[in-house]
Amino acid sequence: MPRTGLLDGPGFWERLLRLLYPEKCVFCGTILPETAKISTCKVCHATLPRYGRGFERAPHIPWVNGLFAAFVYEDMVEQAIHAMKFFGRPRTAHTLAFLMWEEMGRHPMTPDCDLIVPVPMHRRKQLSRGYNQSGIIGQALGEMLDIPVEHALIKTRHTKPQSLSTREERLTNLEDAFRVADPTVVAGRSILLVDDVATTGATLGACARALREAGASWIFAAVIAIAGK
Ligand SMILES: [Zn+2]
Repeated sequence: MPRTGLLDGPGFWERLLRLLYPEKCVFCGTILPETAKISTCKVCHATLPRYGRGFERAPHIPWVNGLFAAFVYEDMVEQAIHAMKFFGRPRTAHTLAFLMWEEMGRHPMTPDCDLIVPVPMHRRKQLSRGYNQSGIIGQALGEMLDIPVEHALIKTRHTKPQSLSTREERLTNLEDAFRVADPTVVAGRSILLVDDVATTGATLGACARALREAGASWIFAAVIAIAGK
C-alpha cells in the first residue's frame, strides 16, 4: 500500500474519518475541510508569529554551530505546543513539523545534515506521556527533508523541568544528563538536533555536547519556537 506522507494530503480513509471526526485547526479550533493537508486554517497560517531568520549563530549555546527557529514562542504557538505536550495531541506535532519545514524552505541557507537526532525524554517520562513530541517532530521532518532519523541520544536521568529551575539549577541541572548510545552512529556526521522549544538553550547545549564528545563533526539545531525575541 502506498505510504501517505505528510506532503501528499489525506488519503481516502483519512478523509472518511474526517467526515466523522472533523479535523480542527490546531491553533484556533476552526473546523477544516476534509481535504486539508495540514491542521491549520488560512487565517492562523497567515498570522503565525514567524521568527523570520534562517540558521543563525547561537553564541550562548556552545557546541551548536547554528540554530533555526520557525516561530516565536508566544500566544497561538505557545498554546499549540502546550496542547501537544500535555494533552496528548501527536497530530499537532505533525502539523507543527510541517510548518517548521515550510519555514525552513523560506531560507535557502539550510545546512547539509546527514542525520536528524531528536532531543530525548527520560524513559519514565516518555512512558507516562506515551510519546516524545520531539521524536514525532524529528520523524516528520526527516520524512519531509529526506534525512534519516536516529534516536541516538539517551537521557540518563530525570531532571527537574528547566522552567521550574532557578538560574543556578539550570546551569548544573543538565550536566551529564544525556549520552550517545552508540558513538559510531554519529561520529564524523553532521547532525540536525530537533526539539520543540528553545528557552535558555541549555538542553540543546547539553545534547550537542554529548554528540560532539561522541565524535559528531557539525551540530545544527532546529526548534519549532524560540522564547524571547
Ligand atoms: Zn486557525
